Amino acid sequence: MSSVWDIERWVDEAAVSAIRRFYPTALTHNISLPLSEIMAHLLFLVDQNKLKIVWEIRCPVCYYTVTIKSDYVTSGDIMECPLGHEFELTPDVIFPAFEVTETYRTDMQEYKKKLHSHGSMIRRAPVIR
Ligand SMILES: [Zn+2]
Repeated sequence: MSSVWDIERWVDEAAVSAIRRFYPTALTHNISLPLSEIMAHLLFLVDQNKLKIVWEIRCPVCYYTVTIKSDYVTSGDIMECPLGHEFELTPDVIFPAFEVTETYRTDMQEYKKKLHSHGSMIRRAPVIR
C-alpha cells in the first residue's frame, strides 16, 4: 500500500540522482496511487518550493517538443514546430513535467553528505525517552 510519503521519498531520491526532469506518470511505476493523487501531491511540493512545474508543448504531427514555458501558457495560441507544422495550443498538446528546484537539490545533496560523514542528525540531539 503506497502513501503520499512514498511520493516525497521518490522526489528525495530524484533530488540526489541524475534525473533532471520527470513526468507525473514516472511515479506510477513505483507508487500504487491514482495519478490524480500523485499529481495533487506533486503540486503541493511545488508550493513547498521543492519542485517546479514546467510545461512541454509537443507538436501533434511529429511529437517534437516545441517550447517549455515555466510560467503559464495561453490556450488558443498558434504554434509552429521546427519542421513547419502549425498547430493550436490546446490541452492535449501540453504535458506537465516537474523539476527539482536548485535550492532543494543542493539542500538534499548537502544532507546526504552530512549523513555520510556525521551520521544521523538525531543522534546528536537530546532525545526524550
Ligand atoms: Zn512538427
